Amino acid sequence: MSKRDYYEVLGVEKSASKEEIKKAYRKLSKKYHPDINKEAGADEKFKEVKEAYEILSDDQKRAQYDQFGHTDPNQGFGGADFGGFGGFEDIFSTFFGGGGGGRRRDPNAPRQGADLQYTMTIKFEEAVFGKETDIEIPKEETCGTCTGTGAKPGTDLETCSHCHGSGQLNVEQNTPFGRIVNRRACPYCSGTGKMIKEKCSTCGGDGTVTKMKKIHVKIPAGIDDGQQLRVSGQGEPGVNGGPAGDLFIVFRVLPHELFERDGDDIYCEIPITFVQASLGDEIEVPTIHGKIKLKVPAGTQTGTKFRLRGKGVPNVRGYGTGDQHIRVKVVTPTKLNEKQKNLLREFAEVSGEMLDEQQAGFFDKVKRALKRD
Ligand SMILES: [Zn+2]
Ligand SMILES: [Zn+2]
Repeated sequence: MSKRDYYEVLGVEKSASKEEIKKAYRKLSKKYHPDINKEAGADEKFKEVKEAYEILSDDQKRAQYDQFGHTDPNQGFGGADFGGFGGFEDIFSTFFGGGGGGRRRDPNAPRQGADLQYTMTIKFEEAVFGKETDIEIPKEETCGTCTGTGAKPGTDLETCSHCHGSGQLNVEQNTPFGRIVNRRACPYCSGTGKMIKEKCSTCGGDGTVTKMKKIHVKIPAGIDDGQQLRVSGQGEPGVNGGPAGDLFIVFRVLPHELFERDGDDIYCEIPITFVQASLGDEIEVPTIHGKIKLKVPAGTQTGTKFRLRGKGVPNVRGYGTGDQHIRVKVVTPTKLNEKQKNLLREFAEVSGEMLDEQQAGFFDKVKRALKRD
């Protein structure tokens, strides 16, 4: 049994992205998993899929495979083998192009470059107010020495002798339905139709080089943790003159020591003394926009919430600004001197039954509960 092309095994195009390969692998490994699929031959299929994925998911192994195919050149790109198992699926995928419709695509057609993702960590305030900054990202760029051909300047590209420049090969297969001719990307020239005689020394024949590129980024005010910003045209360069991909910046926002954020609203807890809570006071509270005065009414209980309208985060799409929510916490003093203690004792004596109705009810409930035990 000769080996099938790994791309065909996974049913992806030769130009498939890592993500597409992973997706195809997940789907097929589930389909043929010996625990799930008890049909004859499923086990071999499973192994085949696994092997194909092991090669194609590894950049280095994939490049080697793209260049040399299977290690035994006689089995190289030996088309689909329908021996013994599940032939139907394979035949139909051959007929309808499920296994590689894209191979018929013109290898010299322009294609868009891959998208890039960059994770950027910013401070809480930077997310609230936005910021302009420069980032440096490693990018594949068209090699300047060979202008992307991969060939040493001054040397010519040869027409691939295997596909005579078409980038495609016809592979004949005998199937139970007769002979089928399948066109597939030429594995010798990776479907480009051209062979490099002498490789460019700058890029080693890849046609691209990795460079650090500075990109100016405008972080919009109101961006939140996990959101992303698209910078169009800053992804990897296109192929055959196609447009470049996009750059996606994913933001990670660092927590603030005082403020917490939920959408466009900001939450924080502010401590007040029991004297302030009892007598009322005007206190200064911090907001992300600067300090602000807040009136705490007399008799404020711990946990009371206040809302400061418009003191939250500006909406990233421009729909107004959120609020700041303050929750006060009445702090019980822990270090009292003798004078303070005496004053409090006096206070307790004077106040005695001086609880308001609601509080009295609450204390009564506790008293009754204690009596029951
Ligand atoms: Zn080069
Ligand atoms: Zn070729």
